[in-house]
Amino acid sequence: MLTAAKFLLLAAVLLALAWWIGGLPGDVTAHTGGYIITTSTPAALLLLFLIALLFTIILRVFGGIVRAPGHAAAWRRRKSAAAGEVATQRGLVALAAGDAAAAKAEAARAHKYLGETPLTVLLRAEAARLAGDVAGAKAAFKTLAAHKEMRFLGHRGLLRASLAEADLAAARTHAGNAEAAYPGAAWTRGKRLELALHDRQFATALGLTREKHEVAALAVAAAAQATTPREALRFTQMAAKAVPDFPPAVAAAAQALRALDKPRAARKAVLAAWRTTPHPLLAAAWFTPEATPLERAQDAVMLAAANPGHAESEILLASTALAAGLTAEARRHAEAALAAGPDDGRARGVLDALEDRPVTPPRTAWLCSSCQHATAEWAALCPACGKPGTLRWGTPGTALAGH
Ligand SMILES: [Zn+2]
Repeated sequence: MLTAAKFLLLAAVLLALAWWIGGLPGDVTAHTGGYIITTSTPAALLLLFLIALLFTIILRVFGGIVRAPGHAAAWRRRKSAAAGEVATQRGLVALAAGDAAAAKAEAARAHKYLGETPLTVLLRAEAARLAGDVAGAKAAFKTLAAHKEMRFLGHRGLLRASLAEADLAAARTHAGNAEAAYPGAAWTRGKRLELALHDRQFATALGLTREKHEVAALAVAAAAQATTPREALRFTQMAAKAVPDFPPAVAAAAQALRALDKPRAARKAVLAAWRTTPHPLLAAAWFTPEATPLERAQDAVMLAAANPGHAESEILLASTALAAGLTAEARRHAEAALAAGPDDGRARGVLDALEDRPVTPPRTAWLCSSCQHATAEWAALCPACGKPGTLRWGTPGTALAGH
């Protein structure tokens, strides 16, 4: 509607202009060399208009010829960019498919078409890593690490390369840089945890995990490394918060409390844990170190009374009675243990000792929930696979106990 109105207005103005020009009086005379051209004013104006139009057309055509190479270059650039993008996409797919040769070829093609962009560098780095070209990967990741937006990927690649080469000093540096480039990344935390565990820096490792069994195990390990009993006690409290009544943590807390000259608090902690999680480690932490076998047998009664009838309580009473030479007591409690709980060999071992038979070896152990390795001694890290907090108390071949 508005366009139609504009057109009508323009037509009216042009018509009025033509009318005015047509009505202009007089002549225009041009002197050129020996010629004299005389024409009416409207015809002269029309000629002038035609000459201006001709010039405009010539300039347009000439400009088009001048700009033609620029247009061709832009067209080539667009074609290159499209080819580069396709190469990048194919490279990413080849990486995901684990095809190192194709990834490398596409990375080279992407670089040819797009030049040195962060994405082509990343593609080259990952392709080199996949092909096992450590030096090539490191060089590309180093380039990437200097890029403002991509530096985390650069440091991540360098950290992985250092770990693959077992260059732990470099790995620590790159882990620090990766953390600075992208603070709080779960991936970096996992790698820093691995490094701290490798260095046996359990207090540091403790700050790098939130998984409760890992926290409990690492806190107990940190307590063992603590320089003062007070610091050790603080770590055992962290363990207790993560996994309540975790026997290694309660035993470590009892040890710290004794070192702080608080034997009553130590025994109170052990007694409380025995109610929920009776365990040989707690029994070991219950007795005063200088107690005689008879004193232990008498003292065991108080601990067992916190969880009466439990197989662990009966085994404690049976084994302490055996050590003290109280054979009737030992037999009674060993039989009660067999009746109460799983036959893990310990109660049978007491009966074997009483009968003077070869003693059945106990089958209880700390079992790794990750690699199934069985070990007699608790440790923060599985002795076989090195993972933290994976050991659970149980009997191999049967269902695992709670801890
Ligand atoms: Zn393991």
